[in-house]
Amino acid sequence: MVAEIILNSNAKELNRVFDYNIPETMAYKATIGSRVFVQFGNRKELEEGFIINIKDESEFKLKDIQKIVNENGISEEKVELAKLMARRYFCNVSECIKLMLPPGTTTKIIENRVKEKNENFVSIVNDILVENDIEENKFKSAKQLRILKFLLDNGETNLADLLLFTDTRRDAVKALEKKKYVVIDQKQVERNPFLHKVEKKTSKLKFTDEQQYAYDEISFVMDKNKYGEYLIYGVTGSGKTEIYLQLIENALRNNKTSIMLVPEISLTPQTVDRFIARFGEENIAVLHSKLSIGERFDQWNKIKNGQAKIVIGARSAIFAPIKDLGIIIIDEEHDSSYKSESTPRYNAKDIARYLCKENNIPLVLGSATPDTSSLYRTMQKESVLLRLNKRANSSTLPEIEVVDLREELSKKNKSMLSEKLQEAIKENLENKKQTILFLNRRGYSTFVMCRECGYTAKCKNCNINLTYHANTHTLKCHYCGYETKVLTTCPECGSLQIRYFGTGTQKLEAEIKKIFPNATTIRMDVDTVTKKDSHEKILQKFKDENINILIGTQMVVKGHHFPNVTLVGVIAADGSLNIDDFRANERTFQILTQVAGRAGREKDKGRVIIQTYNPENFAIECSREQNYDLFYQTEIGIRQSLKYPPFCDIILIGMTSTDEKELMEVASKLYHYLKFRLKSENIGMILYPPVSAPVDKIKNKIRWRMIVKCKFDDTMIDLMNDMLDEFSKIKAKETQVIIDVNPNDMAH
Ligand code: ADP
Ligand code: ZN
Ligand code: ZN
Repeated sequence: MVAEIILNSNAKELNRVFDYNIPETMAYKATIGSRVFVQFGNRKELEEGFIINIKDESEFKLKDIQKIVNENGISEEKVELAKLMARRYFCNVSECIKLMLPPGTTTKIIENRVKEKNENFVSIVNDILVENDIEENKFKSAKQLRILKFLLDNGETNLADLLLFTDTRRDAVKALEKKKYVVIDQKQVERNPFLHKVEKKTSKLKFTDEQQYAYDEISFVMDKNKYGEYLIYGVTGSGKTEIYLQLIENALRNNKTSIMLVPEISLTPQTVDRFIARFGEENIAVLHSKLSIGERFDQWNKIKNGQAKIVIGARSAIFAPIKDLGIIIIDEEHDSSYKSESTPRYNAKDIARYLCKENNIPLVLGSATPDTSSLYRTMQKESVLLRLNKRANSSTLPEIEVVDLREELSKKNKSMLSEKLQEAIKENLENKKQTILFLNRRGYSTFVMCRECGYTAKCKNCNINLTYHANTHTLKCHYCGYETKVLTTCPECGSLQIRYFGTGTQKLEAEIKKIFPNATTIRMDVDTVTKKDSHEKILQKFKDENINILIGTQMVVKGHHFPNVTLVGVIAADGSLNIDDFRANERTFQILTQVAGRAGREKDKGRVIIQTYNPENFAIECSREQNYDLFYQTEIGIRQSLKYPPFCDIILIGMTSTDEKELMEVASKLYHYLKFRLKSENIGMILYPPVSAPVDKIKNKIRWRMIVKCKFDDTMIDLMNDMLDEFSKIKAKETQVIIDVNPNDMAH
């Protein structure tokens, strides 16, 4: 028998199948998806690979497979998926397979792989004998006696715990082992990522009519074992999660499993707790990047061995090794984190759709601000729209006001806070209510400019504006980490008129302290959020210690529920409007809606104040009115007339190189290749000539790009793969080419 093998390698030239002979002694172990070790070319070390097909014979003279490791292989279904992904996302099959392997097992050195965690457990060999011997006073050692009594009461105990509770040492246990009273066993333990136990069990709530309708539609399809795509569109608090919970319960009743995807940043203990409280910890596995690799490995195993029937995780959890899938749910489906921005550049929504079709099960997307493309799918009848118009716990939506910052300027108010917002904060402080102030920008970005000549400080490796960090008094590059001392004179013209532009969270915090010296504040941005869990800890602290004001960037908008927050201030809504991306309006509307949803989620009515220089912009106007429908109508019209998704896909062909001349040659060749195919085959696409990327240099690599607008279908997939073949023929050593379909960030 012959195995077709894919080597575990990112090298483009190795992205093909190699035949190897399966020795008879290993035949019983060889299955599609098995992990193998083979001798490749004249390399000394064995290479790792995966069997992707098994056949009877090969036309070549073959080497034997050296070793087959089965336990970490993947299913045949996943091998199929990996092959499809490689073609569609323009990468190696092995790079896709890696997403489907247990976390931490993809390093090349077998010895260093993550393993199960083992601990010693102590138990009594024969209870009756021990009880007898205790009665007969056979134990002279008080310590040994304590150990035995403890074990009689508590049963098998972890060695470390036993020593701690009985205040004894290892040698006492060893002595008992020698006398055959107890045994010490090594056992695998699950590293537990759940921060705390949830004691209270919850049971299902009685649905509102709207919830019932949505649930019935989806569960009907689930029970019939059919594919169907659904979009649940309902404001925050309208009861989407309750529907998810009951759908998962329905899957369990049918002996089926569920995957629920949540944006990484919303995957807080609170989110998970709601599921644990309903289904018990034993049924749930959680997967996200904040878990240690050991924790992820164990969660993975818990899924693979069938114990966990519910997987809750971020993007890559879509590849969890789950069997008998009954439903996939994607919460906050508009979130950009479902699209991977590194190889393989897949979109988890597409993968989910594929899995649901393969398994004949429903796919449920949910959002308070659906992606324009997702809502469009419902118009095209590719998906069913289910609306929840009312809040489930009948709390009212907050009141939203817009402040025109241009008027503040004319009133000579130079503060970052308008008069209205200052008043509102003051009132909130008096009422002992909490406030969130939101800066609509990523992280803290203040750039440096010379007022005389317009010089701006840029990173010499990346050609991107350097950011001022007040705590270290340095300028930093957020792309490569380059750091330099602050400037006091302009390196171009020698002027002293150097200014720091942009409004960061630090500056805002300083201003708050000045206006409200007694207010307590906490800040959340790229500087304060670094270590594991820190994002979580800041939010928890804000809540637990009832801190007056939380100041933060994008990160504040998700995950938590703050009952005491009644005021949300948006310092400058324009931050996301000025980005150079066709989704600028959509992102602005989504983020403003989300942040507004933070205010007044309980009895007290919330108030939201949005400060902006563009009050007439429709995204801001629509968020003030909380009118998603109007937003969608306007946005879809713009998208259609300018040929943007969903009417068209955008393929970004990115080229990077350390050698500018070579890069230009590659760019020109690929452009002409596409142009030729376009003309000769009459392919429907708009091809733009290569240009340098908005960020034209990162880490000393020059960046160019070429954009194609088209319908991304099989013809386009073939064409792009042909183009990549063409590229590999050019033999341009210094240049890399990547293809990204509908990338998250066009301004990059
Ligand atoms: P969403 O996921 O849309 O934000 P949730 O499912 O979290 O909404 O519901 C918001 C609040 O309303 C929660 O506190 C939830 O327990 C409550 N809730 C949801 N559905 C019902 C219901 N049918 N009856 C009573 N309360 C409900
Ligand atoms: Zn200057
Ligand atoms: Zn840099």
